[in-house]
Amino acid sequence: MDSIISNPVLTLVIPCYNEEEVLPETISRLTVILEELAESELISKHSKMLFVDDGSRDHTWDIIASYNLKNPFVSGLKLAKNAGHQNALLSGLMEAKETSDCVISVDADLQDDLNAIREFIIKFKEGYDIVYGVRKSRTTDTFFKRSTAQGFYRVMSKMGVNIVYNHADYRLMSKRVLQELSNFKEVNLFLRGLVPLIGYKSTEVYYDRHERFAGESKYPLKKMLAFAFDGITSFSVTPIRLISAVGFGMFGISLLIAAYTLISKFLGTTVWGWSSLMLSIWFIGGLQLVALGLIGEYIGKIYKEVKQRPKYIIETILDSQSTLNTENT
Ligand code: UDP
Ligand code: MG
Repeated sequence: MDSIISNPVLTLVIPCYNEEEVLPETISRLTVILEELAESELISKHSKMLFVDDGSRDHTWDIIASYNLKNPFVSGLKLAKNAGHQNALLSGLMEAKETSDCVISVDADLQDDLNAIREFIIKFKEGYDIVYGVRKSRTTDTFFKRSTAQGFYRVMSKMGVNIVYNHADYRLMSKRVLQELSNFKEVNLFLRGLVPLIGYKSTEVYYDRHERFAGESKYPLKKMLAFAFDGITSFSVTPIRLISAVGFGMFGISLLIAAYTLISKFLGTTVWGWSSLMLSIWFIGGLQLVALGLIGEYIGKIYKEVKQRPKYIIETILDSQSTLNTENT
């Protein structure tokens, strides 16, 4: 940040999908937090919560609308249909970016410890543009969720994707980070992978993860797997490269088999036609995989191009004195 804002306008962006059971509690807890932060002059009085209704089928929107009338902190955004957690979140972030100095994204279900919000703001005021909320413990998650999540973070880092370990979408972002985020035009959103790509000064805040306050997870196993697969394939061309690797491996094996077949042939231990068959199967198989891998390389490149991600992000520009002088005269 160029200058530290003394009373930043904060917007809490909360995506909600069928959350009628938790919303009243979430709203009342967040209201208390915003009031306290505004009173201790950590944030501006104009800070607010923005609830994004992601095409809920229950009374989520009615609840948001009714609180909007009686609670000055509550604002809402209703999506025409269910767009999924990541897209719902992005819609809220983009809506909030013009009117806020910083934004914190938080789930509606009260799983993330809301006390961390205060620490997020303190870090922001120290000059950090991104503050990642990192789960200290996952004891409230089931063993299955914990181990699959761990496997996921490990695979991601093996594939060369830079994500913060045990960080979900509980984070603070400054206005300029949001502005940069709006330049990422890709359709398959995976914010956890995108935000670290932006850069700027970032830090982490550790918090405890609680049980869901009420209702059930909107991420059943099928959605979770799809999310993980999306994350990997949106950020890495390693799977495509594996084809080439296997191809070259098979090619190598085919050379060994060629040697073996030829030796057997000259020793006269083979049936007529066996050598040529063996050779062609392995040789052509290897060749095909190498060719596929090569095509994959090009597809990988096209895939990166069509995303049209920004190639760099400028943090500051220092105008030279001489240009300033010419401007002044
Ligand atoms: N959510 C959403 N759209 C969806 C699914 C989930 O906006 O299609 C919201 C949901 O209301 C919650 C957050 O995303 O606020 C995280 O979902 P959930 O708590 O169900 O996921 P989990 O914590 O179980 O991974
Ligand atoms: Mg949850």
